Amino acid sequence: MELLRPSSVEELDGGVPVHGGTEVVPLLREGLLAAETLVDVRGLVPRGTRDGVIGAGTTLAELEVDPSIPSALREACRLAASPQLRNMGSLGGNLLQATRCWYWRLGYPCRLHGGDRCHARDGEHREHAIFANGFCASAHPSDVAAALVALGARLRTNRRELAIEELYRLPDEDDRRTTTLEDGELILEVELPSVQASVYLKAMDRRRWSFPQVGVAAARVGSETRIALAGVAPIPWRIESAEDLDKVTPLPRTEWKVPLAQALVRRALAAVD
Ligand SMILES: Cc1cc2nc3c(=O)[nH]c(=O)nc-3n(C[C@H](O)[C@H](O)[C@H](O)COP(=O)(O)OP(=O)(O)OC[C@H]3O[C@@H](n4cnc5c(N)ncnc54)[C@H](O)[C@@H]3O)c2cc1C
Ligand code: SF4
Repeated sequence: MELLRPSSVEELDGGVPVHGGTEVVPLLREGLLAAETLVDVRGLVPRGTRDGVIGAGTTLAELEVDPSIPSALREACRLAASPQLRNMGSLGGNLLQATRCWYWRLGYPCRLHGGDRCHARDGEHREHAIFANGFCASAHPSDVAAALVALGARLRTNRRELAIEELYRLPDEDDRRTTTLEDGELILEVELPSVQASVYLKAMDRRRWSFPQVGVAAARVGSETRIALAGVAPIPWRIESAEDLDKVTPLPRTEWKVPLAQALVRRALAAVD
C-alpha cells in the first residue's frame, strides 16, 4: 500500500482520503476497506474556525472548546468518542464515518455490503433505527452530523457547495451508499448561519466513549426551529416538529428508543425556546 501526501487539491488522483485515520485505520485492519493508495489530506483540508466557517480538518477536541461556535456543535463534539479520538478525529472524517451496525462491522454480506438481506432486521437490532429502516436498519452514529443538520450548516467541497442534508442519502437497491460524496471529492469547509440558540442532548449506555442511542439537536435559526436526530435512521434525521415522532416504524427491539426520543426532543425544544 502506498501513502501519498499531495500538496494541492489539483494533484488528487484517486486513492482513499485519510485525515486522523481513527476510522480508516480500523476499517483497513478489519478488511472492510480495501485501498492500494491512501491519500493523507491533512495538507489540503483547512483547519480552524473563522467568521462562522470551520475548516473540515479541525479536530473535535478543538471544536468542543471553541466559544465562537454554537453550543449544539460544541456539545456534540464534547460528548463524542474519547479524548484521544477527539484529538485525532477531524470534523470532515466524523461526517463520513461508516455505520456501527455490528453485522456490517463483522462483514456479514448484508444489503449495505451489496447483499440481499438486512441481517439486523431479522436478527439482533436493539441499537438500530426507528425511522426509514425498511432497506437498511442501521442507526447513523454521528452526533456532529445531527448537530450540523439542526444548525442548517452548508458544506464546501473541492467540487460544489451543498446543504449538509444533501451530503446524505438513504441506501436502496440501486445504490447502497449513504452519502452523495463522489470519488475524489473532499469536504473542505463547513459554514454555519447565525444561530440564536442551540442545544445537543445525547442518551448513551455509559457516560463516556459511547455512540448515541438517541441524540437530539435543536437550533433556533432566524424564525425557524430546526430539529435533527442521531442514532435513529441510517442517516442523520431531520424532523419538522415533535409530532413527526408519531411516524416512527420501530423494529420489535428498537421500540424503547421512541419514548427516549420524544423526551429528548421535548427537552431540547424547551431549551432553545
Ligand atoms: C471507538 C470510537 C468511538 C466513537 N464514538 C463516537 C461518538 O460517540 N460520536 C461520534 O459522532 N463519533 C464517534 N466516533 C467517530 C469519530 O469521531 C470519527 O472516527 C472521527 O471523527 C473521524 O475523523 P478522522 O479524521 O479520524 O477520519 P478518518 O478515519 O481519517 O476518515 C474517515 C472517513 O472520512 C473520509 N475523509 C476524511 N476526511 C475527509 C475529507 N476532508 N473529505 C472527504 N473525505 C474525508 C475518509 O476517507 C474516511 O472514509 C467514534 C469513533 C471510534 C473509533
Ligand atoms: S442494518 Fe444495514 S448495515 Fe446492518 S445488517 Fe442491515 S443492511 Fe447491513
